[in-house]
Formats: sequence, structure tokens, C-alpha cells
Amino acid sequence: MQLPQHPLTRHIIWISLSLTASFLLGWWLAYPLQFVAITVAGWLVWYLVKMKLLIQWLKSDSTTLRNTGLPTFLKAELAAWQRRSNAIIKQTESKFSALLDATNALPEPLLFINAKHQLQRFNSAAADGLGLTDRMLGSAVDNVLNTTEFTHWLESRGLESDYLKISSPIDQNKTFKVQLLKYTRDQHLLVFTDITRIQLQSKIRHDFVANVSHELRTPLTVLNGYLEMLTADESDSNHQVFLTLHKQTLSMNELVTDLLELARLQDESNKRKSITAIVDVPILLNELLLTAAELSQGQHNIKQHIDKSLIIPGKKRDLKSAFGNLIANAVRYTQPGGNIQVNWYKQAGSAVFEVIDNGTGIQAQDIPRLTERFYRADSSRNRNQGGTGLGLAIVKHVTEKHNGRLEIESCPGEGSTFRISLPLANI
Ligand code: ADP
Repeated sequence: MQLPQHPLTRHIIWISLSLTASFLLGWWLAYPLQFVAITVAGWLVWYLVKMKLLIQWLKSDSTTLRNTGLPTFLKAELAAWQRRSNAIIKQTESKFSALLDATNALPEPLLFINAKHQLQRFNSAAADGLGLTDRMLGSAVDNVLNTTEFTHWLESRGLESDYLKISSPIDQNKTFKVQLLKYTRDQHLLVFTDITRIQLQSKIRHDFVANVSHELRTPLTVLNGYLEMLTADESDSNHQVFLTLHKQTLSMNELVTDLLELARLQDESNKRKSITAIVDVPILLNELLLTAAELSQGQHNIKQHIDKSLIIPGKKRDLKSAFGNLIANAVRYTQPGGNIQVNWYKQAGSAVFEVIDNGTGIQAQDIPRLTERFYRADSSRNRNQGGTGLGLAIVKHVTEKHNGRLEIESCPGEGSTFRISLPLANI
């Protein structure tokens, strides 16, 4: 008789044959049920032994099914399962290596780190741009990049600031912007963007403006001097022309001064020096209010509420520039007879400088753009009012340099409030 090909069918036939044989033998000896029960128990023990062998094999790293003692019908099923999983593993491996090839093709450095900030993998651009080698795999990434700024930023888990500017450990002239992306709970990605060229361009632009402003200073001073002399003679037929020229050169002088002031602030904030000096703001405000009274020529009702004991860490020259600009703006953009209130007080761990006026006010859509250079809310009207369009850009820089916050509230036709909150503790 030819047995069927499939191992499981053959196994079932064996079970049936053994049960039939034990039944017939038992029947012949007058104990058919007992014989069948003994055979079933025998099969049960056999299954338990095979189950144990199967568990042993599954727990082991072995991939071969030979000499495992497993029944043929199980081996056949396991071999088919192995073939299927090998195919899936191969597919996944090829997708993964395609993904790695893609990261290697990226021009910007990518670092894969775990939740303990240990380096897991990096792409070719990271090897070239940051000098990473395979020996560094597994090390803490802040040891690899080794700057206190980076360590501090990473410890704060990139929350403090969403990116950091960092120089390459192998080339100080190369600057990267680095961002931390958390794509799973314990798998993070550090993405580096090369900003060397952008930095260079912005430095060239900044140096150009600073140099031009500096070069304009001397001829403007000479021009101003002569025009002052010429305007002294009121009988001159060109008196009006000289007056207009003088006014224009004064405006140009103001513009050059503001441009140089902005360049200085930018230079200093790039150097990130900490501020340790103490400024007696009440004395400073007294000086500024005298200047404001001169500018207003008694046309405004200027009031003050100043906490005379409130002094703060800061840079006097910068604070004078920012506070002076806000007070001058209030005078400039408030009609004669209007009210201006200057406040200096302590509030919840901060010192607050506030200028409130009931002047022209500003449209809501202009407020977010006011601190941009040369942005004017109502350009035609405001240009006639004087000013350089740089005042609030200076205010913003000074506030940031002092780790402060600038708030602007305004309503057209009702007036404006400009508020700077500065930290009381050392900056
Ligand atoms: P400007 O030299 O033109 O005053 P600023 O940078 O100081 O330049 O101010 C930018 C613009 O903000 C001004 O042109 C004006 O439109 C608006 N602005 C500033 N302060 C006030 C204020 N107190 N009231 C109304 N508008 C103001």
C-alpha cells in the first residue's frame, strides 16, 4: 500500500492505525476500552515530549531543524514558516539599507541618538562635516561634539531654544544650525544645517552698513558745520534753502547715528557677553524726561510715576537709547495737548518701563512689524514727523540683549502703550 505524501495526513493515519490495532487486540483479550485508553495516554506522553522539544528549539538560536527530534509533520510546517520569515527579513533589510543610502546621500549631517543621547548612527555628511568616526558610536553625543553650549542645550532637550548655532569640531570656520527631532520616545535625530554662507553674507551686509555709516559721519559733520554758519545770516536771500539743507543733514546725521547704534548692538549681542554693571534707571529717566520736555516744547502733558529705589543690572548706554526712543516716539506721535505717562516700577520679579500716550495709535496689522528696520505704520505721515524708522529696531535689540520682553498695545485714535519688562536678577 502506498502511504499519502503529506506528513500530517501520514501522522493521522498512524494514530488511527494504532488506535484500531489496540482496539482489536483489546477486543481479542476482552479489554478493548482499556487498550484504547493506554494507546491514547501513550500518544499524549509523546505529544508532551515533542512539545517540550519544540519549545527548546524555539528558545534556541538554532535555525536548522535536523536532529531536533521533532516529528516530520511539524518540521515541514516550521521549514515553510522559516522560508516566509526569511523573505520578510530580506525585504525589510533592503528597505532599511535603501533608507540608509538615502541619508548618506543627504548633504547635511544627520545623527541618530537614543534617549540617553548616545550616538547610534550617522550619515556620510556627518563624518565629513563634523569629523565623526565609527569608533564614536555608542559614546555620548555631547562628548563627541564637546562644547558646553551644546551640552547645555541638549540637557534642556532643545526646549529652551528650538535650534542652536554650533561650529564644526574639525573646522571652526564652518557654522551649523542644529535641531533636535524626537521621532519615537527613545529615538532622536540631530539635524545639522550648514549656515556658513548665510552667516558670512549677513556679516558682509552688516559690515557694509556699518562702514558706509562710519564713512558718512565726517563729511556730514563738515556739511553740518558750514550749514549752521550759513543759516545764521537771516538776511541772506538763500536763507530758506540753507534752513532746509540744514534740517536734511540733521536727519541724515540722526540716521547714521542710529545705523551705527544698531551695528554696535548687533556686534555686542553676537559676542554674548554677560551684563554685570548696575544702572540707576531713575536718574537716567530724569535726564530723558528733560530731553522729552525740550522736544515737546511744553505742548504735551508729560507725567511720571517712577520707583526711585528701583535699579537693575544692565548697560546704561543701551537702556538710555531704548527708553529715549520710546519717550521720543510718544512725543512725536501724540498731538499737542495730549497726555504722556512714563512709568518705572517693580512687578513679579521684573522691572517694568512703560510709556503710555493718547496719541495717534497704531493699526493692529502694523504692530507685529513695528520692530523691523525702516518699518513705518503710516509711512507718508510719519516720515514728515522726523525719526529714522530704526528706533523700535534698537528698542527690540536692547530688550533682547537684557533678556527682557517688549509688549506693544495700541488702538488707532486712542493711543499706545509700549512696555519693556526686564529681569531684576543678573543677566
Ligand atoms: P520712527 O523713527 O519712524 O519713529 P520707530 O522704529 O521708532 O521709527 O517707529 C516705527 C513706527 O512705529 C513709526 O513710524 C510709527 O508709525 C510707529 N510708532 C512708534 N511709536 C508710536 C507711538 N507712540 N504712537 C504711534 N505710532 C508709533
